[in-house]
Amino acid sequence: MDLQIINGVLDEFYKLCEIPHQPKNEKQLSDMLKKYLEQFAKNITQDDLGNIWADIPASDGLENMPCVALQAHIDMVYAVGINPDKNGKIITKIENGYLTTGGKSSLGADCGAGVAVIFWLLKNIKHSPLRIILTVQEEIGLIGASKISSESVENINYLINLDGFSANRLIIGAAGGMREHFSRPMQFVTSPAGKSYEITISGLSGGHSGFDIDKNRGNAVLILGEILRKLQTKTPFAVAYFNGGEAFNAIPYTSSVKIITAISAKDTLENISSEILNRYKQTDSSARVSIIECESPEKVWSGELLNSVLTVLGGFANGVYQMHETLENTVSDSSNLGRIYEQDNELCIDTMIRYMDEKACQALHQSHILVAGMCGFTSVVRTHYPDWKPQTNGTMLNKITELYTAEHGCSPEILAQHVGLEPSYFTKHNKDLECICMGMDIYDCHAPSERLKLDSIPPFVRILSKFLQNP
Ligand SMILES: [Zn+2]
Repeated sequence: MDLQIINGVLDEFYKLCEIPHQPKNEKQLSDMLKKYLEQFAKNITQDDLGNIWADIPASDGLENMPCVALQAHIDMVYAVGINPDKNGKIITKIENGYLTTGGKSSLGADCGAGVAVIFWLLKNIKHSPLRIILTVQEEIGLIGASKISSESVENINYLINLDGFSANRLIIGAAGGMREHFSRPMQFVTSPAGKSYEITISGLSGGHSGFDIDKNRGNAVLILGEILRKLQTKTPFAVAYFNGGEAFNAIPYTSSVKIITAISAKDTLENISSEILNRYKQTDSSARVSIIECESPEKVWSGELLNSVLTVLGGFANGVYQMHETLENTVSDSSNLGRIYEQDNELCIDTMIRYMDEKACQALHQSHILVAGMCGFTSVVRTHYPDWKPQTNGTMLNKITELYTAEHGCSPEILAQHVGLEPSYFTKHNKDLECICMGMDIYDCHAPSERLKLDSIPPFVRILSKFLQNP
């Protein structure tokens, strides 16, 4: 029986692998899935972006049951620098109990495995009235869900989002996000005479600004800012450049700066750095700083620019702002300074606030604007998506928890996560909607080692089947 379910779900998944479907390139897959749904659905809507929603009539005798939405996103992330084969197909294989690509590309089990399960269910089980919702452009900021018509979730009480990566988790809430961008014009002056050093911090643990923000890891940009502020109290210096971090939503694990000092400062810098890095022994044991004498730059930042940047780096709230009031071990609100860089003759700083409490988001955002404004930076909000308020007492949650416990012999982990999910929008489109996000075991999403654990498929499918027969 288990093998039948696994093979059936994989057969559905292989259909997705035939058609390229990275964000903004979902049209062909969306058209294929719309056509595929025609054999099950009463009415189907496809919007201009490629989002689809469709009503599936109930099986005989289950017409009076509540309608349940099954929702998944159809786009996938291609691993950086590694594309599927030349026709855009994902080539898969089964290895040690996992579906993988053997490292040839990302797999797209996020969230193709969810889409595959939806079609397997439509073909194989008796069910209540269903609404199928397939979204696009999830991976570039929940765009499909943000723009889908609220009609897609009208007249339903329950929505199951199949974008979970962990079979033992039921997700009942998610943080909202605000991506901030700060910039100010570069100001250069002729370089003074002195000794020049390139200071590089590397080897920090870094991580995701949502999943890892509560691990107290060092932020390479902020550490370097602190080193420079401490150096200011010992000896004057000028800065030629300051770069660090990769993206607004990643904790910076490396950063570098070039400075010029009037007198030799290597020993002072080494002492300051080791004192600061010592604080991160537990979380960033491989962190190191290199201080290398180098050629003098022709120009350096003006003193005003340097002071502004060091004030912003020292003044921004960073890390966990507050934990959730009632949910254990759950971060409610946080901020991550993700990157400092030069672009178009401006110095730029990118940050990301995540929140479950809109007041906290605004407090963090206002404090950032205030500090940045005083230092001559202008601020822009690049994206702002809502939170999904944790729904701790839902009817669907109770039923699915019971079914999970019967299937696995233990209770699921029930949690709200500190990363955005599409129910954030669906619960805004329909205020009475109860949502759950769940899934199978998928590892290393978006990477060439992305893999789906095959024996996590049958229990997941059985829990959904039982729920959809009696929601
Ligand atoms: Zn996903």
